[in-house]
Amino acid sequence: MNHDWHSQWIWLDGEWIPWAEARVHVLTHTLHYGMGVFEGVRAYKADCGTAIFCLQQHTRRLLESAHILGIKAPFKAEQLNTIQIEALKKNQLESAYIRPMIFYGMQDMGLHARHFHVQTMVAAWRWGTYLGSENLEKGIDVKISSIARYAPNAAMTKAKANGHYINSMLALHEAVHDGYDEALMLDYEGFVCEGSGENIFLVKDGCLYTPDLSSALGGITRQAVMTLAGDCGLEVREGRITRDQAYTADECFFTGTAAEVVPIRSIDKRPIGQSGRGPITQKIQALYFDAVHGRLPRYRHWLTVI
Ligand code: PMP
Repeated sequence: MNHDWHSQWIWLDGEWIPWAEARVHVLTHTLHYGMGVFEGVRAYKADCGTAIFCLQQHTRRLLESAHILGIKAPFKAEQLNTIQIEALKKNQLESAYIRPMIFYGMQDMGLHARHFHVQTMVAAWRWGTYLGSENLEKGIDVKISSIARYAPNAAMTKAKANGHYINSMLALHEAVHDGYDEALMLDYEGFVCEGSGENIFLVKDGCLYTPDLSSALGGITRQAVMTLAGDCGLEVREGRITRDQAYTADECFFTGTAAEVVPIRSIDKRPIGQSGRGPITQKIQALYFDAVHGRLPRYRHWLTVI
Protein backbone atom coordinates (compact mmCIF):
# COMPACT_ATOMS: atom_id res chain seq x y z
CA MET A 1 0.00 0.00 0.00
CA ASN A 2 1.32 3.43 -0.87
CA HIS A 3 1.45 5.66 2.21
CA ASP A 4 3.65 8.36 0.64
CA TRP A 5 0.82 10.86 0.40
CA HIS A 6 -0.38 10.52 4.00
CA SER A 7 -0.06 13.48 6.34
CA GLN A 8 -0.01 13.43 10.12
CA TRP A 9 -3.21 14.85 11.55
CA ILE A 10 -6.90 14.67 10.74
CA TRP A 11 -9.49 16.80 12.45
CA LEU A 12 -12.60 14.87 13.55
CA ASP A 13 -15.43 16.46 15.52
CA GLY A 14 -13.28 18.99 17.31
CA GLU A 15 -10.11 16.99 17.87
CA TRP A 16 -6.86 16.49 16.00
CA ILE A 17 -6.27 12.76 15.64
CA PRO A 18 -3.20 10.97 14.24
CA TRP A 19 -3.86 9.98 10.60
CA ALA A 20 -3.90 6.23 11.24
CA GLU A 21 -6.34 6.56 14.14
CA ALA A 22 -8.98 8.70 12.42
CA ARG A 23 -11.53 5.89 12.17
CA VAL A 24 -15.31 5.50 12.17
CA HIS A 25 -17.62 2.56 12.97
CA VAL A 26 -18.67 0.11 10.21
CA LEU A 27 -22.29 1.10 10.86
CA THR A 28 -21.54 4.71 9.94
CA HIS A 29 -24.78 5.76 8.26
CA THR A 30 -23.15 7.62 5.34
CA LEU A 31 -21.06 4.55 4.50
CA HIS A 32 -24.31 2.66 3.87
CA TYR A 33 -26.49 5.20 2.11
CA GLY A 34 -24.16 7.93 0.81
CA MET A 35 -25.99 10.76 2.56
CA GLY A 36 -23.12 13.12 3.31
CA VAL A 37 -21.45 16.14 1.75
CA PHE A 38 -17.87 17.04 1.07
CA GLU A 39 -15.53 19.47 -0.61
CA GLY A 40 -12.25 19.32 -2.46
CA VAL A 41 -10.10 22.40 -1.92
CA ARG A 42 -6.59 23.16 -3.08
CA ALA A 43 -3.81 25.12 -1.43
CA TYR A 44 -0.88 26.26 -3.51
CA LYS A 45 2.64 27.29 -2.68
CA ALA A 46 2.08 30.83 -3.88
CA ASP A 47 4.57 33.67 -4.18
CA CYS A 48 3.07 35.21 -1.02
CA GLY A 49 3.20 31.94 1.01
CA THR A 50 0.86 28.97 1.15
CA ALA A 51 -2.52 30.07 -0.13
CA ILE A 52 -5.89 28.32 -0.17
CA PHE A 53 -7.79 29.00 -3.37
CA CYS A 54 -11.38 30.18 -2.89
CA LEU A 55 -11.67 28.83 0.66
CA GLN A 56 -14.81 30.84 1.46
CA GLN A 57 -16.55 29.69 -1.71
CA HIS A 58 -15.80 26.03 -0.97
CA THR A 59 -16.99 26.28 2.62
CA ARG A 60 -20.12 28.02 1.46
CA ARG A 61 -20.84 25.24 -1.06
CA LEU A 62 -20.19 22.64 1.64
CA LEU A 63 -22.78 24.23 3.93
CA GLU A 64 -25.20 24.74 1.06
CA SER A 65 -24.81 21.06 0.14
CA ALA A 66 -25.64 20.11 3.75
CA HIS A 67 -28.63 22.45 3.68
CA ILE A 68 -29.92 20.91 0.43
CA LEU A 69 -29.70 17.41 1.93
CA GLY A 70 -31.25 18.56 5.19
CA ILE A 71 -28.11 17.77 7.20
CA LYS A 72 -27.67 20.04 10.20
CA ALA A 73 -24.04 21.10 10.02
CA PRO A 74 -22.60 21.40 13.53
CA PHE A 75 -19.94 23.98 12.58
CA LYS A 76 -20.23 27.44 11.07
CA ALA A 77 -18.33 28.72 8.05
CA GLU A 78 -15.72 30.66 10.06
CA GLN A 79 -14.98 27.59 12.20
CA LEU A 80 -14.66 25.36 9.15
CA ASN A 81 -12.35 27.89 7.49
CA THR A 82 -10.13 28.03 10.56
CA ILE A 83 -9.91 24.23 10.76
CA GLN A 84 -8.91 23.98 7.09
CA ILE A 85 -6.17 26.56 7.64
CA GLU A 86 -5.05 24.65 10.74
CA ALA A 87 -4.98 21.39 8.76
CA LEU A 88 -2.25 22.86 6.57
CA LYS A 89 -0.29 24.25 9.48
CA LYS A 90 -0.44 21.13 11.65
CA ASN A 91 0.57 18.93 8.76
CA GLN A 92 3.24 21.40 7.59
CA LEU A 93 1.89 21.39 4.07
CA GLU A 94 3.01 24.06 1.61
CA SER A 95 0.63 22.85 -1.06
CA ALA A 96 -2.20 20.43 -0.51
CA TYR A 97 -5.61 19.07 -1.27
CA ILE A 98 -8.05 19.66 1.58
CA ARG A 99 -11.04 17.40 2.15
CA PRO A 100 -13.76 18.53 4.58
CA MET A 101 -16.75 16.25 4.96
CA ILE A 102 -19.98 16.36 6.93
CA PHE A 103 -21.58 12.96 7.36
CA TYR A 104 -23.93 10.85 9.43
CA GLY A 105 -22.12 8.74 11.97
CA MET A 106 -23.25 5.69 13.89
CA GLN A 107 -26.32 6.22 16.02
CA ASP A 108 -29.38 4.96 14.24
CA MET A 109 -29.60 2.65 11.23
CA GLY A 110 -31.90 2.38 8.23
CA LEU A 111 -33.45 4.93 5.89
CA HIS A 112 -36.02 5.71 8.55
CA ALA A 113 -33.36 6.71 11.07
CA ARG A 114 -34.44 9.74 13.05
CA HIS A 115 -31.52 10.30 15.36
CA PHE A 116 -28.52 11.35 13.39
CA HIS A 117 -25.10 11.91 14.79
CA VAL A 118 -23.69 14.52 12.39
CA GLN A 119 -19.93 14.22 12.18
CA THR A 120 -17.40 16.56 10.59
CA MET A 121 -13.88 15.81 9.43
CA VAL A 122 -11.11 17.74 7.71
CA ALA A 123 -8.03 16.07 6.22
CA ALA A 124 -5.28 17.55 4.06
CA TRP A 125 -2.53 15.88 2.08
CA ARG A 126 -0.08 16.44 -0.74
CA TRP A 127 -1.69 15.77 -4.11
CA GLY A 128 -0.14 16.22 -7.52
CA THR A 129 -1.79 16.95 -10.84
CA TYR A 130 -5.03 14.96 -10.97
CA LEU A 131 -5.07 14.03 -14.66
CA GLY A 132 -1.27 13.87 -15.15
CA SER A 133 1.10 16.84 -15.36
CA GLU A 134 2.07 16.12 -18.98
CA ASN A 135 -1.63 16.30 -19.91
CA LEU A 136 -1.81 19.96 -18.88
CA GLU A 137 -0.03 20.57 -22.19
CA LYS A 138 -0.82 17.47 -24.22
CA GLY A 139 -4.50 17.25 -23.38
CA ILE A 140 -6.65 14.23 -22.57
CA ASP A 141 -8.79 11.76 -24.50
CA VAL A 142 -12.41 11.79 -23.46
CA LYS A 143 -15.30 9.40 -24.02
CA ILE A 144 -18.93 10.39 -23.96
CA SER A 145 -20.33 8.19 -21.27
CA SER A 146 -23.15 5.70 -21.60
CA ILE A 147 -24.01 6.78 -18.06
CA ALA A 148 -26.22 9.88 -18.01
CA ARG A 149 -25.83 12.56 -15.35
CA TYR A 150 -28.75 12.27 -12.96
CA ALA A 151 -31.76 14.49 -13.55
CA PRO A 152 -32.22 17.50 -11.22
CA ASN A 153 -35.34 15.94 -9.82
CA ALA A 154 -33.70 12.58 -9.23
CA ALA A 155 -30.81 13.90 -7.20
CA MET A 156 -29.83 17.33 -6.02
CA THR A 157 -27.40 18.54 -8.63
CA LYS A 158 -26.22 21.55 -6.62
CA ALA A 159 -25.13 19.43 -3.67
CA LYS A 160 -21.67 17.92 -3.67
CA ALA A 161 -22.97 14.79 -1.99
CA ASN A 162 -21.08 11.58 -1.31
CA GLY A 163 -23.65 9.33 -2.96
CA HIS A 164 -23.62 11.34 -6.19
CA TYR A 165 -20.17 10.04 -6.92
CA ILE A 166 -21.51 6.59 -7.80
CA ASN A 167 -22.78 8.26 -10.97
CA SER A 168 -19.37 9.87 -11.60
CA MET A 169 -17.38 6.74 -10.89
CA LEU A 170 -19.51 4.56 -13.15
CA ALA A 171 -18.76 6.98 -15.97
CA LEU A 172 -15.06 7.36 -15.14
CA HIS A 173 -14.45 3.63 -14.76
CA GLU A 174 -16.17 2.92 -18.06
CA ALA A 175 -14.02 5.54 -19.81
CA VAL A 176 -10.74 4.39 -18.25
CA HIS A 177 -11.59 0.74 -18.93
CA ASP A 178 -12.11 1.65 -22.59
CA GLY A 179 -8.70 3.36 -22.78
CA TYR A 180 -9.70 7.00 -22.30
CA ASP A 181 -8.55 9.45 -19.65
CA GLU A 182 -11.91 10.84 -18.55
CA ALA A 183 -15.64 10.65 -19.22
CA LEU A 184 -17.85 13.40 -20.55
CA MET A 185 -21.36 12.92 -19.24
CA LEU A 186 -24.52 14.03 -20.99
CA ASP A 187 -27.51 15.20 -19.00
CA TYR A 188 -30.78 13.26 -18.80
CA GLU A 189 -31.94 14.96 -22.01
CA GLY A 190 -28.75 14.18 -23.93
CA PHE A 191 -27.04 17.57 -23.74
CA VAL A 192 -23.39 17.97 -22.76
CA CYS A 193 -23.19 18.27 -18.97
CA GLU A 194 -19.81 17.74 -17.28
CA GLY A 195 -16.94 15.37 -16.60
CA SER A 196 -16.94 12.89 -13.73
CA GLY A 197 -15.37 15.59 -11.55
CA GLU A 198 -15.00 18.61 -13.83
CA ASN A 199 -16.99 21.25 -15.66
CA ILE A 200 -16.47 21.62 -19.39
CA PHE A 201 -15.79 24.59 -21.68
CA LEU A 202 -15.81 24.72 -25.49
CA VAL A 203 -14.16 27.37 -27.62
CA LYS A 204 -15.73 28.19 -30.98
CA ASP A 205 -14.79 31.18 -33.12
CA GLY A 206 -13.12 32.92 -30.19
CA CYS A 207 -16.12 32.59 -27.86
CA LEU A 208 -16.35 30.34 -24.76
CA TYR A 209 -19.35 28.09 -24.20
CA THR A 210 -20.20 26.13 -21.08
CA PRO A 211 -23.35 24.18 -20.09
CA ASP A 212 -25.69 26.00 -17.75
CA LEU A 213 -26.08 24.69 -14.22
CA SER A 214 -29.37 22.85 -14.65
CA SER A 215 -27.62 19.48 -14.18
CA ALA A 216 -23.93 20.28 -13.68
CA LEU A 217 -22.30 21.12 -10.37
CA GLY A 218 -21.64 24.84 -9.88
CA GLY A 219 -17.86 24.52 -10.09
CA ILE A 220 -15.73 27.05 -8.29
CA THR A 221 -13.01 26.70 -10.93
CA ARG A 222 -15.70 27.18 -13.59
CA GLN A 223 -16.71 30.47 -11.97
CA ALA A 224 -13.08 31.62 -11.69
CA VAL A 225 -12.45 30.75 -15.35
CA MET A 226 -15.56 32.66 -16.42
CA THR A 227 -14.27 35.69 -14.53
CA LEU A 228 -10.74 35.37 -15.95
CA ALA A 229 -12.11 34.96 -19.48
CA GLY A 230 -14.50 37.89 -19.14
CA ASP A 231 -11.78 40.13 -17.71
CA CYS A 232 -9.56 39.52 -20.72
CA GLY A 233 -12.35 40.35 -23.13
CA LEU A 234 -13.54 36.88 -24.10
CA GLU A 235 -17.25 36.34 -24.42
CA VAL A 236 -18.62 33.47 -22.28
CA ARG A 237 -22.02 31.95 -23.05
CA GLU A 238 -23.85 29.54 -20.76
CA GLY A 239 -26.48 27.27 -22.26
CA ARG A 240 -27.31 23.97 -23.81
CA ILE A 241 -24.55 22.31 -25.79
CA THR A 242 -25.03 19.31 -28.04
CA ARG A 243 -22.66 16.41 -28.41
CA ASP A 244 -21.82 17.33 -32.00
CA GLN A 245 -21.12 20.93 -30.97
CA ALA A 246 -18.46 19.48 -28.69
CA TYR A 247 -17.05 17.33 -31.51
CA THR A 248 -16.72 20.39 -33.74
CA ALA A 249 -15.35 22.84 -31.17
CA ASP A 250 -12.07 24.60 -31.94
CA GLU A 251 -10.88 23.82 -28.41
CA CYS A 252 -12.26 22.10 -25.33
CA PHE A 253 -11.10 21.98 -21.74
CA PHE A 254 -12.16 20.70 -18.35
CA THR A 255 -12.04 22.74 -15.14
CA GLY A 256 -12.04 21.57 -11.54
CA THR A 257 -10.21 21.98 -8.26
CA ALA A 258 -8.46 18.64 -8.70
CA ALA A 259 -8.12 18.73 -12.51
CA GLU A 260 -7.37 22.51 -12.64
CA VAL A 261 -7.58 23.57 -16.33
CA VAL A 262 -6.87 20.61 -18.59
CA PRO A 263 -7.19 20.58 -22.39
CA ILE A 264 -9.30 17.92 -24.11
CA ARG A 265 -7.57 16.72 -27.25
CA SER A 266 -10.20 14.27 -28.45
CA ILE A 267 -13.79 13.27 -27.77
CA ASP A 268 -14.89 9.78 -28.89
CA LYS A 269 -11.67 9.54 -30.97
CA ARG A 270 -12.53 12.71 -32.87
CA PRO A 271 -9.65 15.19 -32.63
CA ILE A 272 -10.67 18.54 -31.18
CA GLY A 273 -9.18 21.44 -33.16
CA GLN A 274 -5.45 20.87 -33.57
CA SER A 275 -5.70 17.98 -31.07
CA GLY A 276 -3.69 19.56 -28.32
CA ARG A 277 -3.81 22.65 -26.14
CA GLY A 278 -5.33 25.45 -28.20
CA PRO A 279 -4.33 29.12 -27.81
CA ILE A 280 -7.37 30.19 -25.75
CA THR A 281 -7.09 27.16 -23.46
CA GLN A 282 -3.41 27.98 -23.01
CA LYS A 283 -4.23 31.58 -22.15
CA ILE A 284 -6.94 30.63 -19.63
CA GLN A 285 -4.76 27.92 -18.09
CA ALA A 286 -1.83 30.33 -17.67
CA LEU A 287 -4.10 32.96 -16.10
CA TYR A 288 -5.56 30.35 -13.75
CA PHE A 289 -2.16 29.15 -12.59
CA ASP A 290 -0.98 32.74 -12.18
CA ALA A 291 -4.08 33.56 -10.12
CA VAL A 292 -3.83 30.53 -7.80
CA HIS A 293 -0.13 31.21 -7.25
CA GLY A 294 -0.81 34.82 -6.27
CA ARG A 295 0.92 36.33 -9.29
CA LEU A 296 -2.09 38.44 -10.27
CA PRO A 297 -2.92 41.18 -7.72
CA ARG A 298 -6.38 41.55 -9.25
CA TYR A 299 -7.36 38.09 -8.00
CA ARG A 300 -5.55 38.09 -4.65
CA HIS A 301 -8.93 38.16 -2.91
CA TRP A 302 -9.44 34.56 -4.08
CA LEU A 303 -6.55 33.50 -1.86
CA THR A 304 -6.42 32.86 1.86
CA VAL A 305 -2.74 33.17 2.67
CA ILE A 306 -1.64 31.00 5.60
N1 PMP B 1 -18.45 18.71 -11.46
C1 PMP B 1 -18.32 17.69 -10.60
C2 PMP B 1 -19.26 16.53 -10.69
C3 PMP B 1 -17.31 17.71 -9.62
O1 PMP B 1 -17.16 16.69 -8.77
C4 PMP B 1 -16.43 18.81 -9.57
C5 PMP B 1 -15.34 18.84 -8.53
N2 PMP B 1 -15.80 19.44 -7.34
C6 PMP B 1 -16.61 19.84 -10.49
C7 PMP B 1 -17.63 19.76 -11.43
C8 PMP B 1 -15.72 21.05 -10.48
O2 PMP B 1 -15.98 21.82 -9.34
P1 PMP B 1 -14.86 22.71 -8.66
O3 PMP B 1 -14.28 23.57 -9.73
O4 PMP B 1 -15.56 23.48 -7.63
O5 PMP B 1 -13.84 21.77 -8.10
